[in-house]
Amino acid sequence: MAKIPHVLVAEDEAALAELLKYNLEREGYRVSSARDGEEALLLAAESAPDLVILDWMLPKAAGIEVCRQLRARKETRNTPIVMLTARSEENDRVRGLDMGADDYITKPFSMSELLARLRAVMRRIRPGLAEDKLLCGDIVVDRAAHRVQRSGREIHLGPTEFRILDHLMQHPGRVFSREQLLDAVWGSDIYVETRTVDVHIGRLRKALMIDDSDDPIRTVRSAGYALNA
Ligand code: CA
Repeated sequence: MAKIPHVLVAEDEAALAELLKYNLEREGYRVSSARDGEEALLLAAESAPDLVILDWMLPKAAGIEVCRQLRARKETRNTPIVMLTARSEENDRVRGLDMGADDYITKPFSMSELLARLRAVMRRIRPGLAEDKLLCGDIVVDRAAHRVQRSGREIHLGPTEFRILDHLMQHPGRVFSREQLLDAVWGSDIYVETRTVDVHIGRLRKALMIDDSDDPIRTVRSAGYALNA
C-alpha cells in the first residue's frame, strides 16, 4: 500500500472546512483540520503534513503569518502550501506567493478545481508522493509492485514494515518520534501502543540487514527513528 498523503486544512469557516475534509478524504487523502493559525502551526509541527491548505483570513495567526513561520522552520520548509483567498484580496495573493506559498485558489472555488490544483502541486513539489519508486542509498521501494530491494536483492516485508519504510524513505535523515510514526502509518484514529512501533522497526531492521550490510535505520535516543540519508 502506498503512503496516504496527509493534508492539513487550516480554515475557520466550519462549513467550508467540513466540505474540504469530506472531499479530500474521498479523494484518498488523510486530513487534519485546524480552526485558527496557532492550531495550524501546532498541527504542522506535530504531524509533518505532506501539504497545507491555508486560509488567508484566520483567527489568532493570519494565514500569511502561518505561511511565513512554516517556511522558517526546518521541518516544514519544503511542505507545499496552497493558500485560499477571497476575490477581494487580489494583492494578498502576491504577498502569499512572496511569503512562500506554492499556489493560491480564489474563493469561491469548485472542489474539482481545488483537487486538480492539489494534485499538480503534489506532483511538482513532492514527486515522491506521485512516483512509483522511492530510492535511498541502496534501498529501492517499488510502490506499484509493493516490492522492496536492497543492493538488488529482494527484501520481504510485512504490510506495516512496508508502510514504515515508505514513510521514512520520503524523508531521509529526518527523525520521527514513535507518535509521529503511529500517526503516519497507523492513522491517528487507531489506538496503538508506542512500543508497537519499536517492534515493527525491529522487524524492518532485521529484514533490511542482509549480508552484513549496515543498519539503515538510526535510533535517536528518546526522540525516535530516522533513515540514514
Ligand atoms: Ca477565514
